[in-house]
Amino acid sequence: MPVQSMPFGNEDSMTQNRSFVSTLTGSFSTPAADNPTVAMVEAAYRALGLDARYLNCDVQPEGLADAVRGARAMGWVGFNCSLPHKVAVVEHLDRLAGSAQAIGAVNCVVREGQELVGENTDGQGFVSSLRTVVDPAGASMVLFGAGGAARAIAVESALAGVAEVTVVNRDPGRGASLVDLVERATPARARQVVWDHTYAVPAGTSIVVNSTSVGLAPHGDALIEVDLDSIGPGMLVADVIPNPAETRLLREAAERGAETLDGLGMLVEQGAIAIGLWTGAEPDRAVMRQALEDVFGA
Ligand code: NDP
Repeated sequence: MPVQSMPFGNEDSMTQNRSFVSTLTGSFSTPAADNPTVAMVEAAYRALGLDARYLNCDVQPEGLADAVRGARAMGWVGFNCSLPHKVAVVEHLDRLAGSAQAIGAVNCVVREGQELVGENTDGQGFVSSLRTVVDPAGASMVLFGAGGAARAIAVESALAGVAEVTVVNRDPGRGASLVDLVERATPARARQVVWDHTYAVPAGTSIVVNSTSVGLAPHGDALIEVDLDSIGPGMLVADVIPNPAETRLLREAAERGAETLDGLGMLVEQGAIAIGLWTGAEPDRAVMRQALEDVFGA
C-alpha cells in the first residue's frame, strides 16, 4: 500500500494544482458591524472569480498591534483600516507610500514581500470619482470639513491639479492644520474660513465638497450651514456621504442647476484601488456599486 504523504492527500486536487488556501484581506475597525465594505469587496471577488476573502473584524485600540501581527502571520495580502485606527496603525507598519505619508493617515495596508506598506486610497478614490465628471486641473475648491476624509480629499485633489482650496471648518485648529498640510504637501494655494455663520460659496468656485459627517443616515435630511442660493450652474457639488447616496445637499444643488457627485462613487473607487493593490485585478465598479446599493436599499 502507498503511504499517504499529505494529511488531506487528494490526488485529484493535487494533480489539478488546486490550492485550498484563500487570498485573505479584511478590515480592522471598531465599531465594525455597520461597515458594508465587506459586501462590496466580496461581490467584486466573486465577479472576478477569485478565491479571496474579506473579513470585517471588530478590533479594539488595545488589540490593533496583535491584529496586525496576526495578519502578517497568516499571510494576509492586505487590509483596510477604518476608525479609530487610521493614524494608530502607522507605527505597526514597515513604511508608508507617498499619499499616506503626506496625509498622515492610512486606510489601506498592502503586503509587499515581507513588508506591510501603508496607503491612503480615500483621496485617490475621491479624485477617480471626480474625474468621471470634471477635470480638476486649475479648479477652485470649497471644502467643508477638516477631518480625515477632508485631509485625504484636499491633498489628492491638489496633487491632481486643483489650484486653490478653501477649507471651511468649525474648529479653527483643525482647519488651520489642513491649510498648512495643503501648502506644505502640494503646489495648491489654501486658505481657511472659520465656519461660525451660514457660508456663501464665492462666485467662480468650480468644485464644492461636503466632507463633514452631516447628512449621514439616519440623519439623511440634515444639511450643512450653506447658503443654497450661492450654489448654481457651473459648479460641481460632491458629497462624501455614501448613505443615503442622494443627500439633501445634492438634491438642493441639483435643483439649483449644479452638477452633483455622490459619496458612493468615492467608496467604490477607493475599494477598487485597494483590490487592485492587493490582487493586481481590475474589479467591476458596477458590481461593487450594486452591492452597496443592495445593502443601503438605494
Ligand atoms: P472626522 O471625524 O475625522 O471629521 C468630521 C468632520 O466633520 C470635522 O471636520 C467636523 O468639524 C465636521 N463636522 C461634524 N459635524 C458637523 C456639523 N454638525 N457641522 C459642521 N461640521 C461638522 O470624520 P471623517 O473625516 O473620517 O469622516 C467624515 C465623513 O466622511 C463620514 O460621514 C464618513 O462616512 C465619510 N467618509 C466617506 C468615505 C467614502 O468613501 N465615501 C470615505 C471616508 C469617510 P470640526 O472639526 O469642526 O469638529
